[in-house]
Amino acid sequence: MTSVIVIGAGVIGATVAWELASAGHRVHLIDARTPGDGATRASAGVLAPYIEGAPASPLRELGRDSLERYDEFIARLKDDSHTDVIYDRRGTLELAMTADEATRLSHDAATLARDGVEAQWLSGAALVDLDPNVSRQALGGLFVPIHGSVGVSSLTMAAVTAAVERGARVMVETGAIDVSSQGGVTVRTAQGTLTADQAVMAAGSWSSRVTVQGADPLPVKPIRGQLLQLGGSRGLLRRVVWGARGYLVPWPDGTVLAGATVEDVGFDERTTSEARRSLMEMAVSLAPALANADIADVRAGLRPRGPDNLPMIGRSQAVPGLIYATAHYRNGILLAPLTATLVRALIEDESFTPPAPVRPDRHGTRT
Ligand SMILES: Cc1cc2nc3c(=O)[nH]c(=O)nc-3n(C[C@H](O)[C@H](O)[C@H](O)COP(=O)(O)OP(=O)(O)OC[C@H]3O[C@@H](n4cnc5c(N)ncnc54)[C@H](O)[C@@H]3O)c2cc1C
Repeated sequence: MTSVIVIGAGVIGATVAWELASAGHRVHLIDARTPGDGATRASAGVLAPYIEGAPASPLRELGRDSLERYDEFIARLKDDSHTDVIYDRRGTLELAMTADEATRLSHDAATLARDGVEAQWLSGAALVDLDPNVSRQALGGLFVPIHGSVGVSSLTMAAVTAAVERGARVMVETGAIDVSSQGGVTVRTAQGTLTADQAVMAAGSWSSRVTVQGADPLPVKPIRGQLLQLGGSRGLLRRVVWGARGYLVPWPDGTVLAGATVEDVGFDERTTSEARRSLMEMAVSLAPALANADIADVRAGLRPRGPDNLPMIGRSQAVPGLIYATAHYRNGILLAPLTATLVRALIEDESFTPPAPVRPDRHGTRT
């Protein structure tokens, strides 16, 4: 059994803490605020590696691997937490509104089918049969049935609950200040000092603000995303609908999430009226009936982005007991099951090497 301090209780820290506690490790999960309050709170929870990752890219491969783990991950999480987790695998429908988009998406459908991924190009009429309220302006769409979405707050809270049931301790309003190699790993916080055999840096965009003794600041920056929750939309959409300017995610409570902006504005988590306007416009362009929906909520979160948009998962060079699990940018929810598995392997086996595209030392900084 290893003692581990997990720094940050967003979706990544929470699922890592649960994975480690399930394996019998002694876990301390600490958060500067409360669990799930970072980018995780704003996330739409779409699971779509074949949209997010370009063909043959590392992101697509990592996302494919993680998506394959999702059914088992959610079933185990529901069992361990005794709570429900919103989870839907009815696929994504990516709309082509221009001739260029139609050419690209029909080509994508053929490429995916050739690679053995179930995917279909649908003409305008077939599209409306599948999801009657999508825009009639669409020339067609790419249907990927294995994609889906997950309720991110329910997932994160279930992971925290399951971790606690397996003996993890959660400390809120306990922000890490620095990490050093004394007596295993020492994490200094505003509330005192914690020591353990190993630690995991899962503080999302804030990971670069925690000093790691002997390491360069981590090249992770915040990219704000805003998202609307639209009320009065029950039954309007059957699955995630995607377009060039954003996406719509139907929820079991009858709301639809409309996201998301991509803004380089530093550590600013405020919402803006400009985002309300542009997201509402985007939503109506994909599903015109949403023009009558009311805005029930607006959320903003800071996506943790590294230089190549890929996560950093691996051991620190400067503090060997520290493992990074951060910089998941637009796909932290999709990549959570894979990340938790990799972190557990790193904790349990000093010689384990994660896949090259996620190793934190690839950016040439001392980690
Ligand atoms: C609008 C929007 C839509 C998105 N949609 C999707 C999507 O559809 N699918 C998908 O896969 N991903 C999506 N994402 C991305 C996804 O939300 C992120 O990749 C993911 O939430 C990152 O999780 P995290 O746990 O690394 O970071 P966070 O959720 O930001 O968690 C970091 C935690 O660390 C804590 N913390 C900060 N500083 C310290 C400290 N010093 N010590 C201790 N704790 C600290 C914070 O309080 C926070 O709780 C979206 C993001 C946004 C903003």
